[in-house]
Amino acid sequence: MPKAICPECGVDVEIPEDALVGEIVSCPDCGLELEIVEIAGGSVKVRVAAVEGEDWGE
Ligand SMILES: [Zn+2]
Repeated sequence: MPKAICPECGVDVEIPEDALVGEIVSCPDCGLELEIVEIAGGSVKVRVAAVEGEDWGE
């Protein structure tokens, strides 16, 4: 099972084998929504998904 590191709390987040770049996963620890930005072998990079505050635009 590929894993990513939550940028907020640093825990391992398990990524489904069939996950795709752009998919959103939730951190099991802090609940943060993470967007998959890169999948390379067993290593997955994620960033915080900007789901909340979409209407906060300047
Ligand atoms: Zn987290």
